[in-house]
Amino acid sequence: MSTIKQQITEINQRFNELITAANDADALEKIRIDFLGRKGKLTDLMQALKALSQDEKRDIGPLLNNLKVELEALYSKKKIELESNQYQQEAESKSNFDVTSYMPNTLRGSLHPYTYITEIIENVFITMGYEIADGPEMEKEFYNFEALNIPSDHPARDMQDTIWLEMPQMLMRTHTSSVQIHTMQNTKPPLAIVAPGRAYRFEATDASHDYVFKQCEGLLVGKDISMANLLATTKTFLQAIFEKEELVLRVRPGYFPFVEPGIEIDIQCIFCKKGCSTCKQSRWIECMGAGLVNPHVLSHCNIDSLEYSGFAFGFGLTRLAMLKYGINDIRMLHNNSVEFLEQF
Ligand SMILES: [Zn+2]
Repeated sequence: MSTIKQQITEINQRFNELITAANDADALEKIRIDFLGRKGKLTDLMQALKALSQDEKRDIGPLLNNLKVELEALYSKKKIELESNQYQQEAESKSNFDVTSYMPNTLRGSLHPYTYITEIIENVFITMGYEIADGPEMEKEFYNFEALNIPSDHPARDMQDTIWLEMPQMLMRTHTSSVQIHTMQNTKPPLAIVAPGRAYRFEATDASHDYVFKQCEGLLVGKDISMANLLATTKTFLQAIFEKEELVLRVRPGYFPFVEPGIEIDIQCIFCKKGCSTCKQSRWIECMGAGLVNPHVLSHCNIDSLEYSGFAFGFGLTRLAMLKYGINDIRMLHNNSVEFLEQF
């Protein structure tokens, strides 16, 4: 019996030593298992108690019970102490946050699909000897309409919903064709330009329309320019854009006041063999409007239409970007969502 009493004293002493020395949660947990666990020292003593006589049990039992209560209390106190120390250390390390320390940058920017496709377009035309031209987006009525053979009473004005500005005869350009006029007024032929840029329409926004979108205009003026030159140029360009060695083009008559004759150019669907939603089951995708420059437009720019001729073409750069990258909602291109842009 005395050995059990002795053991109680020893365990108490040893537990106190260890718990004072414990300085982290792992050390504390080890002490708990060794002393208070199901196979711990306290359980061993409880087992030994069973073998004692009733008198001895009456004597030793309360001692053992006190020991258990005492050790558990010490353990709980130490646990709270360690946890609050840890909390304090974390708070201190946060307040000592070093704003100058090196942090490797894991977020990388990417180019907008417009930037990619504009670069491709410009490269294709530069290799064919074209120059890149630019013009104002806030435009005079003359450059957007009159000079392009669209006088104020012309029905074609109704084809385009115009955003008019409060300044008289000023508008947001409805197409990049106005750049043609600026170029021809300032440059003597022969000339060859492409002009990618924004255009504006008074339109409600949905998956395929927006009040702002991108267009690209092309113009070539020289001597003996024919429809054959126009078709060869646009075919070369479309093949480069869609990365195809051979694209089948379809030409239909089309009406644009600033060209005569005017045509529309379609390509055979590049996504299917039997019809798909992109080509609306027709196997053809509309790509651009084009034609030979109307002599009226040349004379508006003081170019002798008997000596010179030219061709012009225009296409929706937005539409081309959507086709090329498989984007089905125009709003994705304009709302600057990082999740969307990261894919490019
Ligand atoms: Zn198709």
